[in-house]
Amino acid sequence: MSVHDTVVVGAGVTGLVAAWRLSQAGQDVLVLEARDRVGGRLRSELHDGSLFEIGGQWVSPDQDALTGLLDELGLQTYLRHREGASLYVDSGGGARRFTGEDLPVAADTAAAIERLIKGLDALTAEIDPDRPWDHPDAERLDHVTFQQWLQDNCDDVEARDNIALYVGQAMLTKPTWSFSALQALLMAASAGSFRHLVDADFILDRRVVGGLASVPLELAGRLGDRVRLGQDVTAVDYSDEGATVVVGPERIRARRVVIAVPPPLVRRIRFMPELPASHRHAREHQSFGLVIKVQVGFTTPFWREIGLSGTGFGPYQLVHEVYDNTPDGSTSGQLVGFISGEDADRVGALSDDERRAEVLESFAAYLGEAARTPVTYVESDWQHQELTGGAYGTSFDVGGLTRYGRVLRQPVGPIEFGTSDVAGLGFQHVDGAVRVGAEIAHRVLTSRDAP
Ligand SMILES: Cc1cc2nc3c(=O)[nH]c(=O)nc-3n(C[C@H](O)[C@H](O)[C@H](O)COP(=O)(O)OP(=O)(O)OC[C@H]3O[C@@H](n4cnc5c(N)ncnc54)[C@H](O)[C@@H]3O)c2cc1C
Repeated sequence: MSVHDTVVVGAGVTGLVAAWRLSQAGQDVLVLEARDRVGGRLRSELHDGSLFEIGGQWVSPDQDALTGLLDELGLQTYLRHREGASLYVDSGGGARRFTGEDLPVAADTAAAIERLIKGLDALTAEIDPDRPWDHPDAERLDHVTFQQWLQDNCDDVEARDNIALYVGQAMLTKPTWSFSALQALLMAASAGSFRHLVDADFILDRRVVGGLASVPLELAGRLGDRVRLGQDVTAVDYSDEGATVVVGPERIRARRVVIAVPPPLVRRIRFMPELPASHRHAREHQSFGLVIKVQVGFTTPFWREIGLSGTGFGPYQLVHEVYDNTPDGSTSGQLVGFISGEDADRVGALSDDERRAEVLESFAAYLGEAARTPVTYVESDWQHQELTGGAYGTSFDVGGLTRYGRVLRQPVGPIEFGTSDVAGLGFQHVDGAVRVGAEIAHRVLTSRDAP
């Protein structure tokens, strides 16, 4: 039986950062990853000679844990293409050009949007993203759906639909009737402010040369043979003296174990003794959202020639947001769009051809007929992968944050738990994975039984 200081389960960014920090501190670490690759929700693919980022890709300026790591790893970034006019597709399907952040809607609706943003910004400023349940009004905010909160605070339907888009479709990727106002505020607090969520030029500011998946690849390269692929951990036997991790016929002994897998997947692992019931309940109330990321490639970025940035928003469109996703330096053109929540449920049940036709029709609503005939069409597939289960991340159902939120980061005996899904700052983002990985490593190194 091999013996290590710490075994890390899961080679996403959280697990790899934890392992890298522990090994930098001199620990003997082993990372066990079930897939045949590292990176978890970060992965790049080549299609027709171009790089496509299938999972996470954008970096925003407030994400200093991630930008610090990029610097440390020597990875370069570039600005997302944004020159030109953006588009807003209204409920009648008409596309209108605009520049700046203000949507081209009626003056009353614009004023209602601004009032909602100001109100949400004020509430967000009161929320500690690490402890949203400590807000004096946390229970009330966690017991009301975000849909209801919007209805209670705004009479303008189009204003509500746009604010719902920024948090529901675009971030938590769930219908706004399925999560609480407090969960929406946590999403905003984790990004610094509500206004950041509505500012695409901020929240989707930069990309990494070679793709964001270069982060886990670089970390794994440094860890070398301390990362083992194809190791689906099925059981952890633990006591105060340490743990035995079971992978197939092998048993691996460690003083500490880090379970760096998304909360719903913790259930795939059998713990002996069983985890406290509160842990099981907490994770049963945290579920993945669903978004289908679709990328289409063209021989040229044709929209740029007609003064468009490629950015578009359409709260009534199947593809609710669209961006120019052409990698830096490429002469071809790429667009990315997202289909979320119940729309994703519906088109997910169609045949591939039917779904592609609907998706391209929606791209065309923004960018015209030329958008119907891409040379490359790539859909992300996270909902079909048992080792993820959805996208972008997980969030609580109504009331879950105040009832269970504090449990998710609690260690049990020698076992630590965490992914970006339990982050405060950087919640559901790679920045959060970097923070959670570093925090876990710090706790392991400073605990009483640290080697
Ligand atoms: C489509 C999409 C778009 C996104 N866009 C962005 C973006 O633009 N910017 C951003 O910052 N974030 C984005 N995200 C979110 C970001 O990718 C995640 O927050 C982050 O990658 C999560 O990293 P993690 O290590 O915490 O978890 P994961 O990446 O999920 O890693 C968990 C790992 O554990 C492994 N595992 C699971 N069970 C076991 C087991 N029993 N034994 C061994 N291994 C196991 C899994 O295979 C996986 O490798 C996006 C995500 C998706 C899916």
